[in-house]
Amino acid sequence: MAQRETTPRAELHTHLGGAVDPVIMWTIAHRQGIRLPVKEYWEFEDMITMGPEKKNLGIDEMDKNYYHLTELIQSSPEAMEEAVHSVIGGGYRKCNLVLQELRFSPMKRNRTGERDLDFIILAALWGMRRAIMEYPQVNAGLIVALDRTFTPAQNLITVEKAIKYAPDGIVGVDVLGPDRDAFSMKEHAPLLARARKAGLGLTVHAGETGNLEELRYVVRHIRPERIGHGLAAARDPQLLKDIVKQGIVLELCPTSNLRNSVVKNVQELHTIIRTFLDNGVRITINTDGPEMYRTSVVKEEEFLLANGIMNEKETEQCTKWAFEAAFVTLKENGKNTKVPVNKKK
Ligand SMILES: [Zn+2]
Repeated sequence: MAQRETTPRAELHTHLGGAVDPVIMWTIAHRQGIRLPVKEYWEFEDMITMGPEKKNLGIDEMDKNYYHLTELIQSSPEAMEEAVHSVIGGGYRKCNLVLQELRFSPMKRNRTGERDLDFIILAALWGMRRAIMEYPQVNAGLIVALDRTFTPAQNLITVEKAIKYAPDGIVGVDVLGPDRDAFSMKEHAPLLARARKAGLGLTVHAGETGNLEELRYVVRHIRPERIGHGLAAARDPQLLKDIVKQGIVLELCPTSNLRNSVVKNVQELHTIIRTFLDNGVRITINTDGPEMYRTSVVKEEEFLLANGIMNEKETEQCTKWAFEAAFVTLKENGKNTKVPVNKKK
């Protein structure tokens, strides 16, 4: 029997494309008749996961080498239901995640328009509902992601779907994807404002790579409740103050940052995280994709403790912040006891 984790935890930053157990992905792929590049399971597992021996040169490589295949396999309603269901249940069993927010880009899963986006989203929501029924201790929500590689018109469709399905469990909107010259955060500001007006939480991937200008824009003009990574802020004292003042919570993913070469080494990670903590920035510990990076929230905590980046009191504080910054309503003892952060203002 697996060891049971007793500390309740929340994970706010997980991509569905990096979160599903390779065994399940293998079966889903075969059931759908997807022609995989390899015929041997262990080669497949190696293809969609990254151990410490592997490194990407950046976010573009991660997208091309890993997400492309996992998103293809997840591109059907059946695959989505099974994928989401497995991640929420798995998070509870492995890490005692009693709160999980899982994100995905619906438009990367409709085989360029062949599949209906509504069915993709509804299947994901049904997978989540089933998991919550099986594990009543758990609460969860889905975040749909806009993508920097899509046009504002395409991303607007995603925002509209998020709003449409908010009553069913879509809790927030994210912006992700590798940096693109053609992408303008400013052009997307009205889209994000629209999501917020509809009651959705906002989290934006920014400052993961060195794009400090974009991060400044996000903090000062988009003003999301949370930011994915936000690492570049550690270089800008004024921006740190703005983040604290606005109560923005950063979603950190330490192993992912190292594997994707956005942070050079453990020493640099140490400096960044200490800068955040010493300046009063609220941060949370996440995996970005537990299966892809062969990690978990528990392992991320252990890594931070073992490298003297945080002490136990600090990791516990991060857990507290994660519960506080969640978009979903926290259930405690079967009762809803918490108002979502995005509706508190
Ligand atoms: Zn991410």
